[in-house]
Amino acid sequence: MPLSGTAAGDLTPGRVVALGAGVRRIVAPNPGRMTGPGTNTYLFGSREVVILDPGPALGPHLDAINAALGTARLAAVAVTHTHPDHSPAAAPLALRHGAPLAGRMPRDAAGHDPSFVATLPIADGDRLACDAGPLLAVATPGHASNHVCWHHEPTRILYTGDHVLGTVSPVIVPPDGDMTEYLQSLARLATLDLAALAPGHGPVLAEPQRVIAALIRHRLEREARVLAALAALGPATLDALLPVVYADVAAELHDVARCSLLAHLIKLGREGRAGRAGSAWVAR
Ligand SMILES: [Zn+2]
Repeated sequence: MPLSGTAAGDLTPGRVVALGAGVRRIVAPNPGRMTGPGTNTYLFGSREVVILDPGPALGPHLDAINAALGTARLAAVAVTHTHPDHSPAAAPLALRHGAPLAGRMPRDAAGHDPSFVATLPIADGDRLACDAGPLLAVATPGHASNHVCWHHEPTRILYTGDHVLGTVSPVIVPPDGDMTEYLQSLARLATLDLAALAPGHGPVLAEPQRVIAALIRHRLEREARVLAALAALGPATLDALLPVVYADVAAELHDVARCSLLAHLIKLGREGRAGRAGSAWVAR
């Protein structure tokens, strides 16, 4: 599978990179702390195209997508989820090309792109057709309640959105984000026969099962640190737990880590291993 080498590693915004098997990637010009080099927009097919994660509605990015489409028929605009770095370009593309919007609506709209309305609601196991072969929807709630990974069956490459990223552990922001669901979704991916992972930010990842196993291990290690901190500190607020549990993480990332810490505590609370005592959390 021609997925490695210079071209596939090119994450320059606006450049159309052929990943092989009729799949192209265009990185959106929205680099940042949470978006890495920018959001990966994927185009499947050449005559009948499915766009996955069209990204932010920035003029140059929409122009690059439309130029890459050329005279092809746009079969659908699909999303992995509707965070504002993934889906706002979907509605203008769907309008211009008369294509359906394929995705799921979130449980809690806070933090989601309000412009995305699924006109082709996706259920687990649904397929989208294009001339690069079918894309299978794998529901993976956790990072977002409406998160879907898309399995390109001809290549066995899973397009993972923000569920699995290359260099960072995806943030889980309650209440829409849910750590219990996140770990269940990772466990499900661990049962799939995959050749590679193509995340929503950063390069294609080889050794998919090693990456997934490392992510599960990382989460369980963090959970163990939460339990150890609760045992050491006694009743402790989120702010007291944060620098202890995330002592290994740079302080400028603690605002993000705080969300995942809360997600861990909610999971532990559900399991009867932690609980709230006023504004503090305690071990149970
Ligand atoms: Zn996201």
